[in-house]
Amino acid sequence: MSQVFDAIVIGAGAMGSAAAYYLSERLQRVLLLEQFELDHRLGSSYGYSRIIRYAYDHPEYVELAKDTFPLWYSLQEKLGEQLVVQTGGIDFGPAGEASLEATIAAMQASGLPHELLRPDEAARRFPQFRLVDRFKALYQPDSGFVKASKAVLGHIKLAQANGAVVKDATPVTAIELQSDGVEVSTADGSYSAGSLIVTAGGWAKSLLEQTGLDLPLAPLRCQLNFMAPTNMSPFEAENCPVWIAHVGSLFPEAIYGIPSHDGSGFKIAFHGGPAFSHPSEIDREPDAENVAALRPFMRDHIPGIADAPVRESRICIYTQTPDEHFVVDKHPEHAHVAIGAGFSGHGFKFSTTVGKMLTEIALDRATAHNDSLFKIARFTG
Ligand SMILES: Cc1cc2nc3c(=O)[nH]c(=O)nc-3n(C[C@H](O)[C@H](O)[C@H](O)COP(=O)(O)OP(=O)(O)OC[C@H]3O[C@@H](n4cnc5c(N)ncnc54)[C@H](O)[C@@H]3O)c2cc1C
Repeated sequence: MSQVFDAIVIGAGAMGSAAAYYLSERLQRVLLLEQFELDHRLGSSYGYSRIIRYAYDHPEYVELAKDTFPLWYSLQEKLGEQLVVQTGGIDFGPAGEASLEATIAAMQASGLPHELLRPDEAARRFPQFRLVDRFKALYQPDSGFVKASKAVLGHIKLAQANGAVVKDATPVTAIELQSDGVEVSTADGSYSAGSLIVTAGGWAKSLLEQTGLDLPLAPLRCQLNFMAPTNMSPFEAENCPVWIAHVGSLFPEAIYGIPSHDGSGFKIAFHGGPAFSHPSEIDREPDAENVAALRPFMRDHIPGIADAPVRESRICIYTQTPDEHFVVDKHPEHAHVAIGAGFSGHGFKFSTTVGKMLTEIALDRATAHNDSLFKIARFTG
């Protein structure tokens, strides 16, 4: 006999942990199923930090960020733990770089505080960074980072406090969608519920194919590196902003980073990596070539870390959609099934809002937040 819940969530990463929390806040009997141990390193949500910002190249994300910051602050209040660290943030790159110009335009239209800085002004304010003459910079004071693993485990802790059942090391092997409910099978039994939320990260494509839905989702192998310069002080969170270098016209990808905190080291990484058809194909061993490819950028723009040793490198997964917008929507044939997927390397900051959106979609068939960019129909027509 399958155990009965009101709602089942598949995947306890950033999105699933948040969905389980908001479902439990709506007094649902919730089951959260995770195939690996909680906070494992094989998906997308593990680790010290993820950038949070208003500064986006798309007004819809600026608006979504306005919904998101207050939710994180009320969550950390409930947890009694700091999740969001405000450091300020700079976006910089060559004048005319499309993503930078779009970010500046969106900030100018947002009504939010921001400053445009010439290279000399940026150098005075942020001497860690060197901007060449034809570069420009945007400063936004509210940017910072979310403590990633802490946020995931925090959502789970509050969901459990509301009675949610969390089963890790329990892979879902089959999903059966019925007209008014769902049944999911695992190695240690099957479970049924009135609604389902699928937040399976890089595994979503293969899992959803079982339900007749084929989404264009590609897992990318992404490497992040933590640098350990001898003089770390200028690169500590209290002295250094989060940053995004819009240098896609000069390097294989944009490059971004987060200052050191809690002994992490100074984070630097390319925004992206090679695509695979399934996470199981991804080599988890970081490579030295990745850091070597970043050294010229460091030499030109962050000289204080250019020759620093690497404290640690890690591999993490982006789940990419063709337009790099998320999927936050109901299943085209089953309105009681909500799907959160394809966060394309920029979803963590919104995860608490996405969890709330998926809960509203699963229970109310619609969300109060703007989901116009996140519809499945853009792929399925
Ligand atoms: C290197 C890197 C840097 C990033 N930087 C930022 C940043 O600065 N700012 C930002 O906003 N975002 C950033 N992101 C993106 C962000 O981390 C992701 O968008 C987010 O973590 C995605 O969460 P998720 O819950 O969809 O995926 P995941 O965390 O991968 O969760 C999916 C879960 O589903 C489980 N699962 C899958 N199949 C099954 C099954 N059959 N049964 C049970 N469980 C299953 C998996 O094991 C996994 O735990 C970054 C991502 C990476 C990789």
